[in-house]
Amino acid sequence: MLKGKSAIVTGSTSGIGLGIARALARSGANVLLNGWGDEQEIERLRAQIAHDSGTDVAYHGADMQRPDDIAALVDAAAARWGGADILVNNAGIQHVAPIDSFPAERWDAVIAVNLSAAFHATRHALPLMRARGWGRIINIASAHGLVASAQKAAYVAAKHGLVGLTKVTALETAQSGITCNAICPGWVLTPLVQQQIDALAARERLSPLEAKQRLLSEKQPSGEFTTPEEIGGLAVFLCSPAANQIRGASLSIDGGWTAQ
Ligand code: NAD
Repeated sequence: MLKGKSAIVTGSTSGIGLGIARALARSGANVLLNGWGDEQEIERLRAQIAHDSGTDVAYHGADMQRPDDIAALVDAAAARWGGADILVNNAGIQHVAPIDSFPAERWDAVIAVNLSAAFHATRHALPLMRARGWGRIINIASAHGLVASAQKAAYVAAKHGLVGLTKVTALETAQSGITCNAICPGWVLTPLVQQQIDALAARERLSPLEAKQRLLSEKQPSGEFTTPEEIGGLAVFLCSPAANQIRGASLSIDGGWTAQ
């Protein structure tokens, strides 16, 4: 379905981004991976996705806190494939602390990676999409883009901001073949959440299993984690013709979290 399209997935060396990159490549898209990690492990992932999908898969190490790096990331896709048809703004970080002791530099970093990076990437990719008359921008927000939790001031602010950016981008592209939507996952068992499970286990003296169950039971009525594969499937659907008129939506994939 996506044969001949090119996709940039930020933060795709791990977790949800990796699941989305795999799903897009399996649907035929060429994919530019991005994110941190061990160089050899990233190369192994790149080669594996290329082998499994038969598409062209490349890697760019842009730091999503740096606007110049983000421009270079989009330019790299354009140089390799002549465009950037699908942009998945996924890179994200978390910091958990009460506002009155929230370190200012962590606030700046969370806002930069989770919100400003999506603005910079969208700004650079849009002219390329307009030139081809087709595009998909998928912003990975969160249940925390729709509702809040204590101790996550920067993350909740960034994700609510990302939902707002999604709506503006959708309005400005409404009469074109370009759509922009947000995906709002609940808990997904990735390194980002494992850190929070480990912290909970240490704080409350729980076993790893008890900590996982506690985390889920507090927020996610299904009692199950959402998976990167499920989110990849939703991203592929948003790239399909069936989703042509889904514009500016925030799609929850959260086991019922925000239905409460
Ligand atoms: P993860 O930690 O597994 O992956 C994050 C990715 O972002 C990694 O590839 C990492 O290298 C990359 N990254 C971080 N900082 C970067 C930077 N400055 N420049 C470039 N790459 C950078 O986390 P995840 O859980 O897969 O999260 C992915 C996205 O999904 C995030 O935006 C997160 O907020 C969102 N999300 C996650 C959950 C969850 O439960 N895991 C729930 C809702 C939303």
